[in-house]
Amino acid sequence: MDKETFRKYGHEFVDWIADYFDNVRKYPVRPNLKPGDIKSQLPDNPPMESQDMSVIWKDFQDIILPGMTHWQHPGWFAFFPANNSPASVLGEILTAGIGAQCMVWETSPAAAELEEVVVDWLRQMIGLPEGLKGVIQDTASTATLSALVTAREVATGFSCNEKGLLQGLRVYASKEAHSSIEKGVKIAGYGRENLRYINTDENYAMRPDLLEKAIVDDIEAGYIPACVIATIGTTSSTAIDPLQEIGLLCRKYDIWLHVDAAMTGSAAILEENRGLIPGADKIDSFVFNPHKWLLTNFDCSVFFVRNPEHLIKTMSVNPEYLKTSRDTEVNNYRDWGIQLGRRFRALKLWFVIREYGVQGLREIIRNHIKWAHDFAGWIDSSEEFELLAPVSTNLVCFRWNNGKRDDEELEKINRLLLQKINEPGEVYLTHTTLSGNYAIRMSIGQRTTLKEDVERTWQIINEVSNLIV
Ligand SMILES: *Cc1c(COP(=O)(O)O)cnc(C)c1O
Repeated sequence: MDKETFRKYGHEFVDWIADYFDNVRKYPVRPNLKPGDIKSQLPDNPPMESQDMSVIWKDFQDIILPGMTHWQHPGWFAFFPANNSPASVLGEILTAGIGAQCMVWETSPAAAELEEVVVDWLRQMIGLPEGLKGVIQDTASTATLSALVTAREVATGFSCNEKGLLQGLRVYASKEAHSSIEKGVKIAGYGRENLRYINTDENYAMRPDLLEKAIVDDIEAGYIPACVIATIGTTSSTAIDPLQEIGLLCRKYDIWLHVDAAMTGSAAILEENRGLIPGADKIDSFVFNPHKWLLTNFDCSVFFVRNPEHLIKTMSVNPEYLKTSRDTEVNNYRDWGIQLGRRFRALKLWFVIREYGVQGLREIIRNHIKWAHDFAGWIDSSEEFELLAPVSTNLVCFRWNNGKRDDEELEKINRLLLQKINEPGEVYLTHTTLSGNYAIRMSIGQRTTLKEDVERTWQIINEVSNLIV
């Protein structure tokens, strides 16, 4: 591709994206497709000769775009938000344009140093203690796996790394914890049997009394408690585990405390939400995803550790290397995680934090939380709907229930209700189960969502429920 063609399409794509930010509302949130509908339009074999950009661009619009789910749609109330923003997209363009591979300080000093600065801005923004040091990872799953592997090494005096796995290390998480924990436990070699799920209270938060009992029982039985994972904002209902009590137990029994705040961590940038992360001085590691709720396009997850030496000792394959004169002065982030090669993710984060300012970001998140509470209020005062979990931040779990049907019937009705709410493609909500009950989830966190979109969704829900029951 010559320079002028690149320039032409570069301008055209930016124009297209600028319009998309406005137009995204016009697309159905989800395409109405069957598996294979896209594949059947694509050739089985790669082209042998160069194809013109105009043809590729046309195929994008004709084949790919109609098969996209629009996460940036204002009617996005499904799963969790995965926001981008104009500032993050511009940062991402420069990252791709420069194409640097930022594995160590020397391979891009600015990338390493900007990462150090920006993750420390984030630490301050969510009110974590000064001693915690951060690194950007691709996802919370990878960060949690890194925490589990490091906790394993700390618990065994770094002998698993050398001699292979020891038996009988235990990991604890609430039974509402995210599936990435089970996955991490499997990969890190603890063995799934050694992940103990702790029961929750009526608000779906971990019960510290049961956690302590499990730890004590395990110690008596000869196990080594290695890691507790507390969740700030569970996936089903954004329950908040009692971090203060859990932290005290981890100090008492000398267990690594990892905090999974993947989505809800962003809410801690609000002064009024500082209470979301109490007892932060007891945290060994902490993850949250700016790629969910903090307007930085996927992927961008931030992993904080209290003692980077433990992480580095676990991850580094050449400890001697760290002892050279330059390497004691800089952070070589290849030793702070699993991957060697690293994208320059700090750039888009820097753009976002500067372009919005902390106050601008707070305003957006504060609105989402307010609208979630408004929505919960409407549910609460309705005769036909009920809340199924407390609303801690931006997620409302509810179901239709007129008090005259049993749970099985209610599940059928609510399944149908959700299907009919989503069918026209104006909004998209998803579901979960809480205490065995089918619950519809209204997750409010899209950058483009307006108050009117939340009101309109409540109207749709009522219209559909009047039609089907
Ligand atoms: C979304 C989420 C995860 C997984 O995040 P990834 O970055 O996709 O790995 C883990 N834990 C919680 C609580 C989440 O909300």
